[in-house]
Amino acid sequence: MNLNDLNDRQAEAVLHQQGPLLIVAGAGSGKTRALTYRIAYLMQQGVKPWNILALTFTNKAAKEMLRRVDDLTGGHAEDLWIGTFHSVCVRILRRDIEKLGYQRSFAIYDDDDQQRVLRDLFKQHDIDEKQLSLREMKRIIGDAKTRLMDADDWFSQSRKDHHAQVIHDLFTGYEEKLRKANALDFDDLLNKALQLLMDHPPVLEHYQQRFRHVLVDEYQDTNLAQYTLVKLLSGQSRNLCVVGDDDQSIYGWRGADIRNILEFNKDFPEAKVIKLEQNYRSTQTILDAANAIIRNNDQRMEKALWTESGKGEKIRFCAAGDEREEAAWICEHVRRLRARKVPMSEIAVLYRMHAQSRVLEEMFMRAGIPYRVYGGTRFYDRKEIKDALAYLRVLVNPDDDVALRRIINVPKRSIGDATVEMLEEQARENSSTLYAALRSLPDRLGSRPRKCVEGFVEMMDMLSRRLGELPLGEFVKMLLDETGLIREYAESNDEEMLSKRDNLLEFLGAVNEYEQKSGDATLQSYLENVALVTDLDMQEDAPQYVTLMTLHSAKGMEYRAVFIAGMEDGLLPSARSKLEEDRLEEERRLCYVGVTRAKEFLYLTRTRHRAIFNQASYNQPSPFLSEIPKELISDEWGKTMQEHFGEYKPPRERTRPAQRLPKTSFGIPGMGQDILDIPGVSKGFVRSAASAVEQPAQIFREGDRVLHKKFGSGQVVGASGSGAEARVTVHFTAYGDKEFSVAIAPIVKVE
Ligand code: ATP
Ligand code: MG
Repeated sequence: MNLNDLNDRQAEAVLHQQGPLLIVAGAGSGKTRALTYRIAYLMQQGVKPWNILALTFTNKAAKEMLRRVDDLTGGHAEDLWIGTFHSVCVRILRRDIEKLGYQRSFAIYDDDDQQRVLRDLFKQHDIDEKQLSLREMKRIIGDAKTRLMDADDWFSQSRKDHHAQVIHDLFTGYEEKLRKANALDFDDLLNKALQLLMDHPPVLEHYQQRFRHVLVDEYQDTNLAQYTLVKLLSGQSRNLCVVGDDDQSIYGWRGADIRNILEFNKDFPEAKVIKLEQNYRSTQTILDAANAIIRNNDQRMEKALWTESGKGEKIRFCAAGDEREEAAWICEHVRRLRARKVPMSEIAVLYRMHAQSRVLEEMFMRAGIPYRVYGGTRFYDRKEIKDALAYLRVLVNPDDDVALRRIINVPKRSIGDATVEMLEEQARENSSTLYAALRSLPDRLGSRPRKCVEGFVEMMDMLSRRLGELPLGEFVKMLLDETGLIREYAESNDEEMLSKRDNLLEFLGAVNEYEQKSGDATLQSYLENVALVTDLDMQEDAPQYVTLMTLHSAKGMEYRAVFIAGMEDGLLPSARSKLEEDRLEEERRLCYVGVTRAKEFLYLTRTRHRAIFNQASYNQPSPFLSEIPKELISDEWGKTMQEHFGEYKPPRERTRPAQRLPKTSFGIPGMGQDILDIPGVSKGFVRSAASAVEQPAQIFREGDRVLHKKFGSGQVVGASGSGAEARVTVHFTAYGDKEFSVAIAPIVKVE
């Protein structure tokens, strides 16, 4: 290990002897590097690897850190404990959980399992899901647990009314059921480990003695339970080294508490604080942009970041007409980066929402650019999408036992495993398929399960009938509704569940798009199409690929070239965050995280019109865009797509806006409404479109980009007459050429 690889301040952190140490610094200033070197240095000084505990935010980061330490120490990292909070807690629990009355073989319940437990309880307590949804109940339990509260704690700080009593009883019942099943949920992993340490002093002592050094990366994102755990484990040695950046705290919505880092000195008054100021990652231009953005937050420690790497290239920006143009622009620039010998593995496309990946994925596939979606399953592999596809598969081919097995009880409709087993047996006896067994139910089947199965068959028959009657898109929408697939996720405040709902809406959007694109869309052809999409992507061993991921999962990473897609008001910052100043600051930090991932090339894109979650909106640019000094952005700023591309012609078959999408009954705000009512539609646009009659006619010229209320974005290809006689011909990608009277058409010129 060579200390010359570090600057003086980093070396100071590495060489720091005893006692608490806080390294707080901006992005790319070598915090993780200092932490990694410190571990290697400690080992060189004779600290045994098993006396060191390092906590990271993701498994990927843990792996990377282990590999680096291993390199630095010549292969001695094996006995180190480097992992995420969850994985370290599991290790602690596997050893001593018997002391809490569990068996060592305890199960870890995921979201799905939790739901199942709660659903049973709802039934037992005869609770109407309309009054209290499963999701809400799960959220309450999770929330309480991250704040280290049990059912009684929760109750005592509640309103203590009847409703609270019900929640308390469910919470208690939930805990009992998990205990009986010898199971822990994710929050329990942390809390039970804490309980073990707090209630069993010998256990605590064991770990306090074992871990002479505790190191935590990304400390700004720790929540109360994690913070307490860290404090406990380092309680004896006080050799706690935490590194973080308050400007990158982006998990407030999951209970992370930015105060843990801001108030570290309060907890550890003797702590040494080291600030790193030199950024080694990004060009001056990228750094200037990041600084200019984050400067607008109030809740932060002032930091000055500088770099020795030169100005570098300007930031490139694209205001695309819609998300497909945006994706095409990104593909084109990936191609240009490739021509400049930037490897694919050094390119990342970041976005706010998982659902944004679909169009990007499709466009990457078409362009033949290998990619990986990180931190989220590929769109068509996501559970909720697979469930929906499984319904479609069964409808096309009822003999598809695998698909049927998948959805027979999804969403839960009380067709339990025992029933399914009985049906499968029947199918085996008659050498028929499972679907056939559903139609000739065995006599020994009890009346309740029989009813449930009959209900399912009836529903499938109904769907099968409607399939022949409705256009594909409408049919799929009805299917999502009737089967209850979407309801599962829609009634929730939980971001994760809502994103599943959003994915289903996005799926619906994809079906609609497919239908509009292909003249005679059948369900069969659609499924084939999806199957091909899947196959194409199966280049698992492609050595080089572009990374697609959310801004959240990009934390800690770096790439030579970074694209941030969807820099729009309502997306980044998200619509939900705009209601509270705190959350807006968190969105700004998220944007800062994104920008600071880039080493050399930064690309920002936004669309004027986006269809996402099967909902269309006209978008204002993200306010964060205007926080970036214009001189940092290439003078391509503001140019149209045609100017960007020269020869580029957007594909003709593109789909268009909300009016073509079916009305919905999902109760999602903004869906199925007239476009002028949709939040996020530019007020300016609404005004001009509505009052076009009274205003002096606008003057259009060939090449102008316009927005039409119904047809979306287009380009003027011809103009004639003047005043009240003025007429304009506009080319819309999906609708072809249309001629309008300027005086009365709901049409406006954009930038
Ligand atoms: P983030 O806040 O994004 O997590 P960080 O502060 O952890 O960033 P690192 O990832 O440790 O920063 O470092 C950023 C980049 O700078 C890495 O490529 C790292 O190898 C490099 N780097 C860090 N310190 C030095 C140094 N002293 N000399 C040369 N390169 C360095
Ligand atoms: Mg880091």
